[in-house]
Amino acid sequence: MSAGPSASRAAADTRWAGGAGETWSLRTVPLQASGSMWYVSTRGTAPRVDFEGALFAGYAPNGGLFMPEELPRLGEGTLRQWSALSYPGLVTELCTLFIGPELIPRDDLEGLVQRAFSRFRHRDVVPLSRLRNGLNVLELWHGVTYAFKDLSLCCTAQFLQYFLEKRGTHVTVVVGTSGDTGSAAIESVQGTESVDIVVLLPQGHCTKIQELQMTTAQGENVRVFGVEGNSDELDQPIKALFADEAFVRKHNLMSLNSINWARVLVQMAHHFFAYFRCAPSLDGPLLPPVEVVVPTGAAGNLAAGCIAQKMGLPIRLVAAVNRNDVIHRAVQRGDFSLSETVHPTLASAMDIQVPYNMERIFWLLSGSDSQMTRALMEQFERTGGVSLPKELQSKVSHCPQAPEKGKVQPRDTARLGV
Ligand SMILES: *Cc1c(COP(=O)(O)O)cnc(C)c1O
Repeated sequence: MSAGPSASRAAADTRWAGGAGETWSLRTVPLQASGSMWYVSTRGTAPRVDFEGALFAGYAPNGGLFMPEELPRLGEGTLRQWSALSYPGLVTELCTLFIGPELIPRDDLEGLVQRAFSRFRHRDVVPLSRLRNGLNVLELWHGVTYAFKDLSLCCTAQFLQYFLEKRGTHVTVVVGTSGDTGSAAIESVQGTESVDIVVLLPQGHCTKIQELQMTTAQGENVRVFGVEGNSDELDQPIKALFADEAFVRKHNLMSLNSINWARVLVQMAHHFFAYFRCAPSLDGPLLPPVEVVVPTGAAGNLAAGCIAQKMGLPIRLVAAVNRNDVIHRAVQRGDFSLSETVHPTLASAMDIQVPYNMERIFWLLSGSDSQMTRALMEQFERTGGVSLPKELQSKVSHCPQAPEKGKVQPRDTARLGV
């Protein structure tokens, strides 16, 4: 299989290393070999799967989340080459690294990514606005439903349909949402023959526009139900549903929320694109750092940023949260625990008490320590709170930083609010 001209160019200085250790120079694998990209569970023990397996599975069978077994380390040469790419071009390069040409050959992948972004309203898909004092804003809202989730979901839905058509099968997607995910998921699969979608929306917790986007969807493959409770409460029965393997198999159920690896993968492109548009110059010997402030809910975008960072993108991540501040407490004090209630705010997509993608970040920063991650997450699930081990907390507080609420930290780097 050929990996395409730009991928093989990148092979020259791209190294692959085990999950997350600091030993980046473990071994060098030419990118043509990326067909053997495997995914493992953050909680260990589950059998590894390929991209197609991770896409359809959502959670790993042991309750963990899928992460790449190996991460490519991108050299400065690759980053300089990628800096000229369009946003869809970057998505394609990233997907090439993580999907493998035996699953989706390069030409097909390019077509899928192109189709995914064809309905975006802006030529650049995610244009960058330059504000005063070196502050830049990456506009992620030019998709059909105005949610940034359009970006990852439209690609994920294309991958899904691609595999379903090859297999000649059908799935039912079940999504619980506090707003943005539901509308964007419906939009991404509406009218598709191989997919039905069931959306559960917590009544009174979504904005009027989003509720209308969902309840007025026309596709015959769309079903929307209002439920009582908030989105964290809704997550529990959904997680229980997906834990019932026989039921899931019988009805070909799958989820499309940000536990899904495909979404995290596509979201990495925001960080790369943002970096290339913000970095003052890539001509010097050292690539300059850029600080990326990520409005954070379930931490999917943040996890994507942490992975991009591990791959060699010189970004500093800041997790911005609202009153629902579990990530702030975890980063500051190692206190990863539920607060008493979810506080409804204007940013309902960030009103989340259980930021499940933090599990990916814990695993990544602990050097793929699946035993520790499993113990941590199981205790969290049992008791609603856990203290992060000192060493992990120190790593977490150096990866995403949580500014004191209301205070902006002055830094002499370019800044970006995604
Ligand atoms: C989904 C969403 C978030 C939270 O993103 P995560 O990746 O889940 O942290 C924040 N803001 C908006 C507008 C969203 O749609």
